[in-house]
Amino acid sequence: MIGNVTRFAPSPTGYLHLGHAWSALFAHNVAQQSGGRFLLRIEDIDPVRCKLEFTTAIYEDLRWLGLIWEQPVRVQSQHMTDYADALARLKDMGVLYPCFCSRREIIAEVAASGYAPHAKDAEIVYPGTCRHLSMTERTEKLAQQSVANWRLDTAKSSSMFQNLKFHDHARGVIEANPMMFGDVVLARKDVATSYHLSVTVDDHLQGVSLITRGEDLFASTHIHRVLQALLGYYTPDYHHHHLLTDANGKRYAKRDNAVTIRALREFGNTPADIRAMMPDF
Ligand code: GLU
Repeated sequence: MIGNVTRFAPSPTGYLHLGHAWSALFAHNVAQQSGGRFLLRIEDIDPVRCKLEFTTAIYEDLRWLGLIWEQPVRVQSQHMTDYADALARLKDMGVLYPCFCSRREIIAEVAASGYAPHAKDAEIVYPGTCRHLSMTERTEKLAQQSVANWRLDTAKSSSMFQNLKFHDHARGVIEANPMMFGDVVLARKDVATSYHLSVTVDDHLQGVSLITRGEDLFASTHIHRVLQALLGYYTPDYHHHHLLTDANGKRYAKRDNAVTIRALREFGNTPADIRAMMPDF
């Protein structure tokens, strides 16, 4: 049997907390148990939210927890040409359109495209305004502004394939419904990629065979599945694991400073103590 290639893909927007530790250990264990490989990827495409000090802290905290990952680590900001290539292919296929909308709620949605939609507020569905522009209007607007946000025409993309499915180890075979987020932004004016595009490209280029991540990202997989089909990529297996919560059933967030790995370490906890706070695998 060939072992699973898994990855942990944090965004360096804060210190890792217990929820991240669980996710990282989960991916690490699944790879180890199957005699596979464990990769670490730094998802730092958003220059406003991501900080180098947090990337350094991620390495430190994971090493302290006892995790070992392959080198070199893929750092997304160093691979923008890979995302540009994928974007160009999608543009050539006619499944993207430029969006020039500037209403406030759209600005928030575009900004959110730089990171994974864990929270409800990132799930604003775009009404599709710019999808209806004629070719002439698009060309004129692009000539005036030169840059735009590029959106996936999800209805058109979905209609090109029948029976798009993915296999989730926790939920079974799932029929993909990429329309649920509307026409997502795949490349932003200021950052020529997005979470959805770069994660799909990277998992493919890195040969990830089993994507493990929190169940709050389950919906994103429906978009990743149609992107895989459009780009001619293989479809990995998925395991969207449940989220670790505190004693009150609330999931951990980056603002909960008391449960960061480094705070727990400074309070005198050992890596074994942290592992003991995790459910069984
Ligand atoms: N970078 C994402 C995050 O930190 C996770 C991406 C993924 O696992 O697909 O939320």
